[in-house]
Amino acid sequence: METEVVSELMEHLSDKKLEAALKVNTTVRAAMGEFLRDRGFIEIPPVIFSTVTDPLNHPVYDPSFEYEGTRYALTKSMIFHKQIIVQKFPKIFTFSPNIRLEMPEKARTGRHLLEFTQLDLEVKGATREDLIKLGEELFIHTLEKVIEKHSQDLHDLGRSLSVPHAPFKRYKFEDAVKKYGSEFETILSKEAREPFWIVDIPLKEREFYDRESDVSSGILNDMDLIYPEGYCEALSGGEREFDLDRIMERIRRKGQTYEQFKWFLEFARGGLELSTGFGIGIERLVRYICGFERIEDVHPFPKVPGKVSV
Ligand code: ASP
Ligand code: MG
Repeated sequence: METEVVSELMEHLSDKKLEAALKVNTTVRAAMGEFLRDRGFIEIPPVIFSTVTDPLNHPVYDPSFEYEGTRYALTKSMIFHKQIIVQKFPKIFTFSPNIRLEMPEKARTGRHLLEFTQLDLEVKGATREDLIKLGEELFIHTLEKVIEKHSQDLHDLGRSLSVPHAPFKRYKFEDAVKKYGSEFETILSKEAREPFWIVDIPLKEREFYDRESDVSSGILNDMDLIYPEGYCEALSGGEREFDLDRIMERIRRKGQTYEQFKWFLEFARGGLELSTGFGIGIERLVRYICGFERIEDVHPFPKVPGKVSV
């Protein structure tokens, strides 16, 4: 088996498509970092494992281990670390490697890797509206830089890309479900020519840490950015729950245990203020820019659900 896996990898590493994707990836990271630094954001190093990580809202296998009597898990997202550090440094970002051991069926989507990087950012005192605006500007800036630097690469890939216009269109989650059914995200993404937002996401669709609206009960002050042309989810984020009682209530309603989140709850007991943030998957962004069918084509060492990888 090693021979087959390694020869497939060698072939992949010599692929012209991968070379173009890695060049785009280099520009994407530089453009995003530059955009955020220019706006006063501080870059923090990624956390690879910790005592508390994102519970996610869907089942994955759980990589964890014990060190000197304490249980640690590999990072699924730095959501809690973002919420904690933003209390001290009000604008932060990180390029965070995430491990999500998805079920093998997820390979079907062409947009899941077991190991990926997200640009994860958080702003203290900001609202969803502020972060939607920031997200649009960041996205536009990044595409402008890529188009400026890589018109030849994109041309060679047969990809034509244009810079979208802000403000992006918005759909409320429940309106979209009513009109297009449960597959609304894919349907709308395939129809769209520019990225768009899904906002006001119901509680059961997201994790406990996103803030419930004060005016519409059961609705979160969340947002997802969706790519056009069928590339689906780009970014996910929202306002965070900061009130300890509300956090505990939300954990309880999810059927999760306080034990699982005790390290975070200890911080929350000390008092948290409102923050809002989002995470944008870098490989998905590069896939969209390059116009690739499958996400593994953008990563030199892709880990595809259900497959043995080097
Ligand atoms: N990093 C979060 C996630 O992976 C996104 C967010 O900031 O809400 O779900
Ligand atoms: Mg999330």
